[in-house]
Amino acid sequence: MGLLNTNNFAELSKTMKATQIFDNHGRPINYLRLAVTDRCNLRCFYCMPEEGIKYMPKKELLTFEEIERLVTLMAQMGITKIRLTGGEPFVRKDLMQLIRKIVEIEGIKDVHLTTNGILTAPHIPELKSLGIASVNLSLDTLDRERFRQITRRDEFEKTKGTLKALLDHQIPVKINTVVMEGKNIEDILPLVRLTQDQETSVRFIEEMPFNGEGSHYSSLAWTHKKILEHIKEEFPLLQKIQDPENSTSYNYTVPGFKGNVGIIAAFSRTFCGTCNRIRLTAQGVLKTCLYDDGVLNIRNMMRNGLNDSEIKSHLLKAFSNRPKDGFEAERGRKEKSVSESMSTIGG
Ligand code: SAM
Ligand code: SF4
Repeated sequence: MGLLNTNNFAELSKTMKATQIFDNHGRPINYLRLAVTDRCNLRCFYCMPEEGIKYMPKKELLTFEEIERLVTLMAQMGITKIRLTGGEPFVRKDLMQLIRKIVEIEGIKDVHLTTNGILTAPHIPELKSLGIASVNLSLDTLDRERFRQITRRDEFEKTKGTLKALLDHQIPVKINTVVMEGKNIEDILPLVRLTQDQETSVRFIEEMPFNGEGSHYSSLAWTHKKILEHIKEEFPLLQKIQDPENSTSYNYTVPGFKGNVGIIAAFSRTFCGTCNRIRLTAQGVLKTCLYDDGVLNIRNMMRNGLNDSEIKSHLLKAFSNRPKDGFEAERGRKEKSVSESMSTIGG
């Protein structure tokens, strides 16, 4: 299916079986990032304030039944890949129960997880047996004290244990590292060195102002270009490798190293042209761009009794009205500037 004619939404959504939806810029939409909670057991500097966080009342979060219904419906519209995120997904009680259901949904080919690793290790054997496609593990430093300063919790050993367990179980693992001036610059090179013997991908992410307080800086010091230059100074033979389709990272490897290195220009927003992803916040609000402030409250639609074809029709309209890129989305926000916590969005 190509671009959709908005007049036919209602008709189309009634008959829609697994198909492929394209947005108004011709980009396929096949990847859903789903925040299962806004709660977290860490307080990362770049994601939320240390104190005074107002979590949503539990009744406002999507129930597992609502999530299952929505994923089923979106799979019928061409979503094949899901990432469960949060907040910290494992803080949500009985998360594994939800994962067991989601891997069974027709049309969902890949289920991925993003986690801080604190509560993850005991579930790794089952994640492996359920065929989880990959895990992104947030790890901003290899130093226990810096970990404590960045996350405001002393849990480094647990995250480290989860990394080891993921590698031991041969679950593909990517390490997510947010690069922060004055916090973890000294960790960039040791993290690159980790890829010498470990088949992992370490992805350095530009810091975005999604921390619940607004921007920490007047301008971003560690852009993707600066991160790359810094790595190249130490590893001049760093080689560009093929980026996977729809990848948000520019990927590299040091010749002879088992793993690779990615750099994500999350603040510079250089990847919007191939963006295939939508987001669902923990309270069921659809975001068609990370930088918009929510375009559709699907939870309310479900709770107000809309049927599947009516919800699909609303989704199609939202997909046909996607901003071209993160800058356009930011300009279109009802609330002025970006300041919400990433824990409500999922990254
Ligand atoms: N709690 C899980 C974790 O930390 O992996 C999942 C949720 S977290 C919001 C998802 C990803 O968003 C993490 O990899 C985190 O590093 C990233 N993130 C959070 N705040 C960010 C920010 N302000 N700028 C860039 N990345 C951010
Ligand atoms: Fe929690 Fe993840 Fe945000 Fe850190 S980045 S505070 S682990 S949700």
